[in-house]
Amino acid sequence: MKDMEQKLRNEAKTLLEQGQVDYMVGFEPGSLKFTTTPLITRDKNDVERLVINPFMANNLANFLTELKGRIGIVAKGCDSRSIASLIQDNKVAREDVVILGIPCPGIIDLSKVEKLIGKDRDELEDIIREGDKVVITAGGKRSEFPVNEVLFDNCLGCELPTPQEYDILLGEPASPVIDRSASQASIEQLKGITPQQRWDFWKDEFSRCIRCYACRNVCPACFCQRCFVEETEPQWLMPVPRWQDNLMFQVIRNIHVAGRCTDCGECERVCPVNIPLRSLTKEMYDIVSELFHFKAGMDKDAAPLMTHYEQEEAEDCIR
Ligand code: SF4
Ligand code: SF4
Ligand code: SF4
Repeated sequence: MKDMEQKLRNEAKTLLEQGQVDYMVGFEPGSLKFTTTPLITRDKNDVERLVINPFMANNLANFLTELKGRIGIVAKGCDSRSIASLIQDNKVAREDVVILGIPCPGIIDLSKVEKLIGKDRDELEDIIREGDKVVITAGGKRSEFPVNEVLFDNCLGCELPTPQEYDILLGEPASPVIDRSASQASIEQLKGITPQQRWDFWKDEFSRCIRCYACRNVCPACFCQRCFVEETEPQWLMPVPRWQDNLMFQVIRNIHVAGRCTDCGECERVCPVNIPLRSLTKEMYDIVSELFHFKAGMDKDAAPLMTHYEQEEAEDCIR
């Protein structure tokens, strides 16, 4: 990863120096241990702050609709699909982005690490990825775990860890760490219970939602200038976070991102009350894939899912 990091810094410096981009968007070390934070800069001297490590969770494609000008952007496999999806939706022009692609070995989920070690992340001294293992040092003691025990669930089901759409690829293509049953475990568990139990489950979960909108704000597929939740005429949702309105918010959000969601996992990661949002978004991703043979961001030149129809559409009214 150090080689890739140096290559990224060199390429980013050249792009800024030569005026090929107005901004660079990448990752820098976060203020907390084992975290990164997005770095958005116009200053070539800042490129030394850019990092590549197993903690770069954000989907940076989210910033493309906010920034004006030509953008150099660091993209993992799922992020590059989000960029392609934004291009499909005419939210981003391909010529306005320089994609620095990272073949992604998967992102480490600190909450899984904490559970395995039985300590808070602040008490850990080091977390290092070594091939198919992760080595964690806590209290001077080293422990090794297979990588599929510590990656985010979405990374365990990752179909394309190496960006398909890029201008500069920073390393050799990565092989996905596939553990589909672990990736889908919580979703399958929900499918295995009765509709009434599932309803009770989501009622409980959405009773905890504080409607902070972090899940929406972090999502590159949620790009409406004015979100329906802020409409007052008509008012779709009560501003007070009642479970019914919270559930309705997620149902409508999931329909809006259908065919745009790339299973980057960001909405679930950022939820401050740990609502298992991926159980909704990934299920929608799979339904879209099964019904329409469509996966978001696979082809920047393809029409977006909801803007065209096929001869074999089931409904006569659409044909
Ligand atoms: S889903 Fe794939 S590309 Fe995205 S962070 Fe996980 S492993 Fe990397
Ligand atoms: S991030 Fe979590 S708490 Fe915040 S609005 Fe979304 S579901 Fe609710
Ligand atoms: S809905 Fe969630 S998983 Fe899908 S693209 Fe948005 S943030 Fe990523």
